[in-house]
Amino acid sequence: MTKTDANSAWAKDRNHVLHPYTDFSTFKEEGSQVIETAKGMYVTDTDGRKLLDGIAGLWCVNIGHGRREMAEAISDQVLKMQYYNPFGHSTSEPAAELGYWLASHAPGSLNHVYYTTGGSTANDAAIRLVHYYFTMRGQHRKKKIISRNDAYHGSTYVAAELTGIHATKNSFDKVAENLIHHVSAANMYAKPQDMSEEAYCDFLVQEFETRIQQLGPDNCAAFIAEPVMGAGGVLVAPKGYHRRMWEVCKRHDMLYIADEVVTAFGRLGAWFASEDVFDYQPDILVSAKGVTSGYIPLGVTLISDEIYDVISRPQCEGGVFSMGLTYFGHPVACTAALKNIEIMETEGLLANSRDVGSYFHEAAQGLTDLDIVGDVRGHGLMLAVDLVADKATKEGFPVTSQMGARVFKKCIENGVVVRPVGDRIVLSPPIIISKDEVNTIVSALHSAITDVSNG
Ligand code: PMP
Repeated sequence: MTKTDANSAWAKDRNHVLHPYTDFSTFKEEGSQVIETAKGMYVTDTDGRKLLDGIAGLWCVNIGHGRREMAEAISDQVLKMQYYNPFGHSTSEPAAELGYWLASHAPGSLNHVYYTTGGSTANDAAIRLVHYYFTMRGQHRKKKIISRNDAYHGSTYVAAELTGIHATKNSFDKVAENLIHHVSAANMYAKPQDMSEEAYCDFLVQEFETRIQQLGPDNCAAFIAEPVMGAGGVLVAPKGYHRRMWEVCKRHDMLYIADEVVTAFGRLGAWFASEDVFDYQPDILVSAKGVTSGYIPLGVTLISDEIYDVISRPQCEGGVFSMGLTYFGHPVACTAALKNIEIMETEGLLANSRDVGSYFHEAAQGLTDLDIVGDVRGHGLMLAVDLVADKATKEGFPVTSQMGARVFKKCIENGVVVRPVGDRIVLSPPIIISKDEVNTIVSALHSAITDVSNG
């Protein structure tokens, strides 16, 4: 059967499946690449093409693909107890065990977890918990959330509104006027060249302070930020930024939400990046993806003892916390998380991520010699390469030139999957990656960018 036969997965998918972030008009013609098998660092499509996965599926398959231990743990749990009502006073052993592990390893007093189905729903839960908390404290006006331009926080309606990437806003109305506000992204590549890192950090902190004053500190409930901005372009903040933004929050009795959907579970070489890498303790921490390495969907929203103490008071006007997801604490997903964590522990994958992560950045710096590479940056196993028309002015290419998409296609020809986000190439390989595999990715990218820039 060729892929275009009506019975092929390609044809069925093209005719019936609505893919995320996809231009449906071109999809109708081109369809998808169907990935059939996946093992370790590699995926193989239905044309038999074996590709090195430079993006860990979508920032998530941290322990690598197709692991038997995961399959066995998942199947054992399905046979033992696959699902039961998680509401109120009913739970499962895996949900309890994972809650205990998270509380023991998360920063500060983040000792309480609300389970969700992924990162977007975990961010929705975070905002609802913030609002619930201030309502229980009788501060009914303290509800505004400050996010950042270029942030990505998800695709449910509230999470999409937290998101600051303008292209995601097309044709969607705001859920609530005046609830979510954005300040500048911490983007070292975009900072004026003659401004020092310290001065840039001062500027960002001052802008945040000013915005809070404009909105009124009594109205501002929380700030949300990724430790390293992922989809927005792997933007690493200036030194000390997160801690200083956290200090501003503390001064105004605001909560700091760390969106660690990407950065936790080894991507930056630690279980959680906010405390271990960036030295601040958020009041709320959101994660997903690497928590199960994408084997089963799961999101987690962790809150501090201080928040828990308020929301667990005898109820007054707050009523019960009325966010209820059928798949809260799904026993099979929590089992997958526990086995995934065990694998990371026994194989020393956090250390591997740190070691190979620094090698990755050294190796990729060579790409800056290419004429159209404006910047190579990142942290741990997150890396971005900006393609620009003019290195001196940092001016980008016209949208129609589709440089990112062309580099992506060349990389596929070279046997490596990368992720184009506009004219930016993003990389986030599984954290089991070796230095040899880093070399393969970097040389595939080098040759793809050279080919594309030569026309
Ligand atoms: N937050 C961040 C930082 C993310 O990168 C993502 C997904 N890429 C999300 C939230 C949303 O997660 P999900 O797609 O699992 O809903």
